[in-house]
Amino acid sequence: MQPGLDPRYIPSMDSRTAAHVLNEIAALLELHGENKFKTRAYRTAAKAVLALDTDDLAPLQRSGELASVKGLGPATLAVLEDLIATGDSEYLELLREKTPEGLIEMLRVPGLGTAKIHLIHQGLGIETLLELEEAARDGRLAELPRFGEKTAEKVLKGIAFLKETGALVLYPHASAEAHRLLAGVRRHPDVVSAEIAGSVRRRREVIRDIDIVAVVRGSPAAVAASFSRAPGVRDIVGGGSRSITVRYVDGTLLDLHCVRPPQFAVALWRATGSSEHEAQVRERAIELGLSIVDDELVDKAGAHIPVESEAAFYEALGLAFVPPELREGRGEVAAAARGALPRLVGAGDIRGVLHCHSDYSDGSATIADMARAARDRGWRYLGISDHSQSAFYAGGLTREAILRQHDEIDEVNASLAGAGDFRVLKGIEADILPCGRVDYDSQLLDRFDYVIGSIHSRFGMSEAQMTGRVLKALDDPHLTILGHPTGRLLLTREPYAIDMDAVIERAGEAGVALELNADPHRLDLDWRCCRAAKEHGVLIEIGPDAHSTHGLDNVEIGVGIARKGWLEAGDVLNARSADEVLQFAAQRRNASSVGANAGSDKRRAPGVAGRRAESDEGHGP
Ligand SMILES: [Zn+2]
Ligand SMILES: [Zn+2]
Repeated sequence: MQPGLDPRYIPSMDSRTAAHVLNEIAALLELHGENKFKTRAYRTAAKAVLALDTDDLAPLQRSGELASVKGLGPATLAVLEDLIATGDSEYLELLREKTPEGLIEMLRVPGLGTAKIHLIHQGLGIETLLELEEAARDGRLAELPRFGEKTAEKVLKGIAFLKETGALVLYPHASAEAHRLLAGVRRHPDVVSAEIAGSVRRRREVIRDIDIVAVVRGSPAAVAASFSRAPGVRDIVGGGSRSITVRYVDGTLLDLHCVRPPQFAVALWRATGSSEHEAQVRERAIELGLSIVDDELVDKAGAHIPVESEAAFYEALGLAFVPPELREGRGEVAAAARGALPRLVGAGDIRGVLHCHSDYSDGSATIADMARAARDRGWRYLGISDHSQSAFYAGGLTREAILRQHDEIDEVNASLAGAGDFRVLKGIEADILPCGRVDYDSQLLDRFDYVIGSIHSRFGMSEAQMTGRVLKALDDPHLTILGHPTGRLLLTREPYAIDMDAVIERAGEAGVALELNADPHRLDLDWRCCRAAKEHGVLIEIGPDAHSTHGLDNVEIGVGIARKGWLEAGDVLNARSADEVLQFAAQRRNASSVGANAGSDKRRAPGVAGRRAESDEGHGP
């Protein structure tokens, strides 16, 4: 008998499904206004279970290992035991029954968290997205305590945004998911090897589905079909004879393509895309009298040309190897034909970082901790750029705090003196005020080694106003770098209205660098603009915007985006030495002959106190 037809049959419980259930419970508890500690326990447990990465939790439970996993407690263990024994969670079912579907849908509206949805439900009795939209339009939402007209407007925008973006996820999330799925594919007994393709391989900033190409022994169609029965699969969305697209319980989409060894190179190329790149390469093949049929390169006579690797594939078409990041159909095929592809910047070219926060503002680590972590990553310098005084919500620094911080940096540098060539630089992320002025007076700005200017307020200005604001800031000789130039938060907040062409042009004239903010929520400057910046001679600073030592790892994601933007090491400010960075900042100040003293202040102030403040969002301001 087929297992699915036996009513007593209970499928094995995999990590993904179990973690998804725990996360759902957490979200439902939050929607019902349960306390933080209770909900956090479920989220922590979900993470711990996902990390187990197993297709069957039952053996772990039987051996007692499950009970000793860090992050699991009595309540969450009970849910897992229920899942393992019955395939379902009675607790989740109970919560679901109490919760209108529409509330869960509202969670996807940018800016609406579980707490706000709880208030909306309680205050207005709203239970669907449609009702929410109506209430936002007719003024009821604005009248709720702690809401107001601005929030209502934001909710309307959020709903519109949601309709456009659908089921996209950020790169790091998709990349982690892709590697987990890849491990699962590689475990299949008939899979010889497998690789990630698609937009993850191209390092797009947001991802819709995960593509994997697998080399199999035996029948590709049979292996592809067997994944419809993989643990955690909810339904089959599509597929051909050798491919299958499945949706997992948590919404993850996997597009799996199975081939025999001789087809792998062309299959990997095809599955990597983009469709624009693919179309241009196909045209190139036709010009040469060749064609690409399924996963094979074929000559005029219809004979199959063996292709051992992607590089060999491009070579057969008279093209240089095109790095996956560049495959977007933006001139890379023509450049590959001319041998004119850029030598893309790599993570190894980065020599230091300039956009980092410490516990003086809204970061979580001390300057010394950040310095050590930067040195451990092989960098030669770390620039501390905490928030300026106008960013009071993010613990912006007063004049006194700056003086204290500079003393502390001198001390850290002194203590590092024997530890090789490494130094901490004195930077600041100064607010660009609505009038276009850079926060602090000129004498105080002179004390910094460099200044990043960023917009953290009044995002709603018209394009003319916002562009004027930024152009004025670019004229300030203290400004070294324009931080996160468009203010976007991927999938959450659209860029503010700004004429980036005008900004790039002025930055080029003034000698100001533009930031490629490497926080995966931002990735701002957009890679599509990086080339324009490069053509105007604008240097790009790849800034981790780290708020912890862990945040320094954002650099790697930023480098991927820089590569998509055709950038070479010579185009990147922090691929230069610390001295060259200081020189870059000083040059700009001297050119305008306003206080050129960027040196350190050796005076000592007693007492070094860190200050922390809650930021309104994890990745802002
Ligand atoms: Zn920052
Ligand atoms: Zn910022």
